[in-house]
Amino acid sequence: MTTIAKVLTSAAALGLDRLDAQLLLLQALNRPLHERTWLLAHDGDPLSEAESAGFRDLVRRRLAGEPVAYLTGRKEFFGLDLQVDARVLVPRPDTETLVEWAIERLDALPHEGTVLDLGTGSGAVALAIKHARPQARVSALDVSADTLAMARANALQLQLDVSFSQGCWLDGVTGRFDLIVSNPPYIAAGDPHLAALIHEPLQALASGVDGLDDIRTIIREASGHLNPGGWLLMEHGFDQAGKVRQLLADSGWTNVQSRQDLAGIERCSGGQWSKNIEENGR
Ligand code: GLN
Repeated sequence: MTTIAKVLTSAAALGLDRLDAQLLLLQALNRPLHERTWLLAHDGDPLSEAESAGFRDLVRRRLAGEPVAYLTGRKEFFGLDLQVDARVLVPRPDTETLVEWAIERLDALPHEGTVLDLGTGSGAVALAIKHARPQARVSALDVSADTLAMARANALQLQLDVSFSQGCWLDGVTGRFDLIVSNPPYIAAGDPHLAALIHEPLQALASGVDGLDDIRTIIREASGHLNPGGWLLMEHGFDQAGKVRQLLADSGWTNVQSRQDLAGIERCSGGQWSKNIEENGR
């Protein structure tokens, strides 16, 4: 008879990370993913044949590269429990830098503030901002209807009032915002790192030969949709901060700056649109 301790040991022997194995076992046992201490306290408990077969299947898929978040259907982001599946990019801890920066910008406003999240995916960034600052009016766009269905399901489950609509960057957007945020695709089309990300939507990852196609579009389109003094904040690749700052500065943005992620890498860059609307229209 197999036990919790035994199946975890055999998963480790196959090379599976311990935390991943614990999460997948909780999933196979149909228990909440935060119950890792329950596993420790029950390591002698027996597993049924169906439970151990279910766990073996999850381990096999994980070892073949599927993200744990797709196998469990859940990912924690900025303290929120999000549903995810292969329709959406798995929210990364690095992206919390973008949310923190957005919250800072909102807090600096003399009023409650309006935010637009471009390429929202699971809704992670928009929902985290709305959760942290419920008074802000938060909207979010994604080009994919499938992706939006997931984002809307997350908003419903978390009871967060974010307005989602379909659109490609700022095409068709009406109105102006205090803050535009985005975690766009930014990996160069030929980057070997993409091989490790084959289970996630390529559309959410790759962006032209230098990875900056979508960032260039956003920079070009965002200024026409910001209130005077509004900010554009974007996530980008580990080696793109200098280029993104240059693109912003060349297009007339001011206060151009970058923020580091938890690993100390410049992960987000942004700027302020200080020109007034009339000047912008010329
Ligand atoms: N940071 C992610 C990765 O390199 C990519 C996310 C993105 O393209 N927005 O795995």
